[in-house]
Amino acid sequence: MADYPSLHLLIGGEQLSGGGRESEDVVDPATGETIGTLPRATGEDLDRALEGARRGFREWRDTSADKRAAILTKAAALIRERARDIGQAMTREQGKPVKEAIGETIYCAMLLEFYAQEIKRIYGRTLVRPAGQRVEVQYHPIGPVAGFAAWNFPAINVMRKIGGALAAGCSVIVKPSEETPAGGIAMVQALLDAGVPGDAVQCVFGVPDTVSRHLLASPVIRKVTFTGSTAVGKHLARLAADDLKVATMELGGHAPVLVFADSDIDAVLDTMVPAKYRNAGQVCVSPTRFLVEEPAFEKFRDGFVERAKKVVVGNGFEDGTEMGPMANSRGLDSMEKLLGNAQDKGAKLLAGGSRIGNRGFFHEPTVLSEVPQDADIMNHEPFGPVALINPMAGEEAMIEEANRLPYGLAAYAWTDDPARRRRLAAEIETGMLAINGASVSAVDAPFGGVKWSGYGSEDGREGVMACMVPKAVHEG
Ligand code: NAD
Repeated sequence: MADYPSLHLLIGGEQLSGGGRESEDVVDPATGETIGTLPRATGEDLDRALEGARRGFREWRDTSADKRAAILTKAAALIRERARDIGQAMTREQGKPVKEAIGETIYCAMLLEFYAQEIKRIYGRTLVRPAGQRVEVQYHPIGPVAGFAAWNFPAINVMRKIGGALAAGCSVIVKPSEETPAGGIAMVQALLDAGVPGDAVQCVFGVPDTVSRHLLASPVIRKVTFTGSTAVGKHLARLAADDLKVATMELGGHAPVLVFADSDIDAVLDTMVPAKYRNAGQVCVSPTRFLVEEPAFEKFRDGFVERAKKVVVGNGFEDGTEMGPMANSRGLDSMEKLLGNAQDKGAKLLAGGSRIGNRGFFHEPTVLSEVPQDADIMNHEPFGPVALINPMAGEEAMIEEANRLPYGLAAYAWTDDPARRRRLAAEIETGMLAINGASVSAVDAPFGGVKWSGYGSEDGREGVMACMVPKAVHEG
């Protein structure tokens, strides 16, 4: 098992820790043991970061697109070189299997590589008028960005905050989760090592609400971007509104999976069961409500239960581990409450249902079926290793149930009928839809939701444009 790296703030390119700053412990969720000490930024640190972001914005904005692209490409190469160490640090702090952690790291490099290319495709347009007059529509970086990321993907959540902003020419101050700081620090360090100016990308930690209030109170920050719960997202959106800052909100979901009887049920199960238990279900796009057309229900339910019972749970460093611990004890508490409530309401527990042992935060892969609509778990994001499987009467009822909740991040559908695929794409209220597959994420496609799952996009061309503002220059 690799050593866990030392932890620090990155302000003005300097690694800062100690110096009388408050600190907090970082815990390994597989053992419950403390593995690191994380410094909290003081008010002075945050003010220094804000002043830096103001300077860094001008410097980075005025760096040529070619040079910015070369720096991002170099940072991607450094991340690839360091992927094993970064992945191991993330398994220590977050618990996920090390193979998944390394895969997440590589995805960060791929995202930067895409953005390095996309920088060169930021176009304006010219509107030609009579008598030599014209209007130029130009796109400019919006200004310094403040990003706040959650603990479920310590590296990619952070890179999604940084990548689009840097590609657009903005400076960024990012606050990764205090529970999983090493992945985010490694991303920022790679960018600094590749040549991003120390004022253009900075990393801070602290009490989340104190840090976000401090940064958002400053007129320097022109955009806020957040990944986390809908409750915190609404709070940050209100703070942003006080100063009319632009916001991107990547919030919770409760993804429906519509399984039609015309699909190959074994193929659906082989794809969707691993997708459900990936990262112990702590994924904003995790498939959660399995809505199964009645003729296929029993086969689907029994096949799901059989496969769920075979998922290998263990320390993310052990060979063969398919699912690690939950990332924190809050997750275990939340699972216990939601599973208890669902069973009180009449849901059937078909697999799992309990915490495993009392060391670390392990939980069994769990399956509930015939879960009543008024059970809390059918309405609140469980963010844990639990599948809810219900029989459904047909397409209309399935679409209605898919759209019933205020969330709309990801949805999944399985059907062999091409006309139905078109109808589902039109009718399901969601930011991302996977048809006959489990992937809703690609570096060149927008990632984001609708309704309570938030607004704005990360990744793809949209991820860069979300950090730019148009300016119309009328020449007369
Ligand atoms: P939370 O909303 O309290 O925390 C999520 C993240 O937001 C954490 O990293 C935290 O540091 C940060 N945060 C919290 N308050 C903040 C503030 N005022 N300013 C800036 N950042 C702040 O939730 P949690 O207890 O960690 O997880 C509970 C729920 O959050 C989950 O059940 C899930 O619904 C949701 N969640 C969603 C995602 C996602 O990818 N969309 C990720 C993590 C958690």
